[in-house]
Amino acid sequence: MPDDMVEAHLTGVRNALSAGWLALSRGGTALDAVEEAVVVMEDDETFDAGRGSFLNHEGKVQLDALIMDGATLRAGGVGCVERIANPVRAARKILSESSHVYFVAEGAERFAAQHGIPLCENEHLVIPREIERLRDYQANLEEHRADLFAPTVSHDTVGAVALDGKGNIAAATSTGGTLNKAPGRLGDSSLIGCGCYADNKTAAASTTGWGEPIMKLVLAKWATDRVAAGNSPEWAAPEAIDYLKTRVNGHGGIILLDARGRFGIVHNTPRMAWAYKTTSQEAAGVVR
Ligand code: ASP
Repeated sequence: MPDDMVEAHLTGVRNALSAGWLALSRGGTALDAVEEAVVVMEDDETFDAGRGSFLNHEGKVQLDALIMDGATLRAGGVGCVERIANPVRAARKILSESSHVYFVAEGAERFAAQHGIPLCENEHLVIPREIERLRDYQANLEEHRADLFAPTVSHDTVGAVALDGKGNIAAATSTGGTLNKAPGRLGDSSLIGCGCYADNKTAAASTTGWGEPIMKLVLAKWATDRVAAGNSPEWAAPEAIDYLKTRVNGHGGIILLDARGRFGIVHNTPRMAWAYKTTSQEAAGVVR
């Protein structure tokens, strides 16, 4: 995250926090809270989710999202959608209205449209900043290959975890994936247990970072399993990021919350925007 993007990221995560909190304070569930928080970040061009996402190799936005309910283990995921501005809304519809868990591409778009989610043109999701970024990246491919985390190559998937008054937890993750990705490439973000997971008996997790290493470790589930084994999220979150680094030389971050309200926020990238709110505390930052 370049210096000149820090304020925008902080504003973005604070707005998401407010939306999630509002949902809870109106009697909504943890699932409602994570959906509303993620929608705010999908609508914010600062983030690599919804409009303003990174472009794939062909200059298109291709989006992935997952939402999961820790109370029932129901989940909804979409992958490689090109005409949905808020893929987490489509994911939520899949969770609540379908016996399937995961839809991709045109099938996901058709399902979304049939369930009242408006479709848009892909051009509506593409912004000039990202056209410029892709052009620069493709013109300097060799240079970028050496350092995937060059400061100019920020990538900021969005995610949220929440605990509601009934003691249920939920998680959601949404992304435009990685810059210059191959069309049809799916990352970790929308895969159950990789970029997102929630189980009341263990924890809710959302991850960000280069998706291929995260996928190989099924990292979100790995972290929640550590909580199942009796560890706190404060301990399991850094362990997960340490495992990502030591096992596959991965870079990323995780937010992890259990049904007792204990949480961990960790990243091994220089920055990751985060925010949290409890009944007694509120904070946000880009370094943790
Ligand atoms: N994990 C995402 C992906 O690989 C990217 C990110 O988190 O920034 O698709």
